Amino acid sequence: MPQHIEYRGRFAPSPTGPLHFGSLVAAVGSFLQARSQNGQWLLRIEDLDPPREEPEATDSILHTLEHFGFEWDGAVIYQSQRMEAYISALEQLQQQNLLYPCSCSRKEIAEASLSGHYGPVYSGLCRSGPTNNNLPLALRVLTHDKPIHFTDLIRGTFEQCIESEIGDFIVRRADSLFAYQLAVVVDDAEQQITEVVRGSDLLDNTPRQIHLQQLLGVTTPRYAHLPVALNKEGQKLSKQRGAESVHRQHPQHLLVKALSFLGQKPPVDLVEAELEAIWTWAIKHWDLTQVPRHDLPAPLI
Ligand code: GLU
Repeated sequence: MPQHIEYRGRFAPSPTGPLHFGSLVAAVGSFLQARSQNGQWLLRIEDLDPPREEPEATDSILHTLEHFGFEWDGAVIYQSQRMEAYISALEQLQQQNLLYPCSCSRKEIAEASLSGHYGPVYSGLCRSGPTNNNLPLALRVLTHDKPIHFTDLIRGTFEQCIESEIGDFIVRRADSLFAYQLAVVVDDAEQQITEVVRGSDLLDNTPRQIHLQQLLGVTTPRYAHLPVALNKEGQKLSKQRGAESVHRQHPQHLLVKALSFLGQKPPVDLVEAELEAIWTWAIKHWDLTQVPRHDLPAPLI
């Protein structure tokens, strides 16, 4: 009899640079949440935005994950090879008259919109046709006024009314690239992900993804948003802000730091142990209820 898959999680880095402590935390948290439930853990490279990517980043990420002893199930999926799936999702939305072309520039939007909690709210200016047909057109999806809510396994209930807090959002950019929101929904569905564990910077993107899941008729996974590691200025660590790569670091040392960051209580001498023994301890003792519900300064490494 085929084995029923109870749990399928994933780690989905964008290859914009090598892994840093913040991305390591997301990898560790999603991996432990999967393995502590005997679940599968899939790896997806979100190489959807060539202008933001670095040619060596994918190799560097894969090597770093191996260096830290991560093991993933099945083949690595690359978003750059999934264009047909994204086109077919757009066609499905188009057939329901849920998409419209938009010529608004970022500047126009910033000037013409209300500024909401999450940035400028798109007013729907092009809903009845693009204001300028001579410009490259993005595609937006219609949103509605019914609040979308979900219960995050770490952060609790989260609610957003997309139309008034975000506005109709882009699913294909004016430069023809597919938007993250569309690709992530199509791929999580295709890979049958049952639970998404990722950084809290994506918490407020989740209602948009649930909206697309509803329009495309696919299952909504559970969500757990991990604390994000902050730099001295209180911003999320990122390659662009000079976060240090972890690829040459001592894996035992950093793994134990990541466990502590995630609220787990590794014994002090665990850092002396073999990598495998650290993973065994971490899988056995993983406790999602101990994960902090707020972002935290990155530890010194
Ligand atoms: N690719 C995204 C990132 O690296 C993560 C997307 C996700 O986990 O949904 O920030």
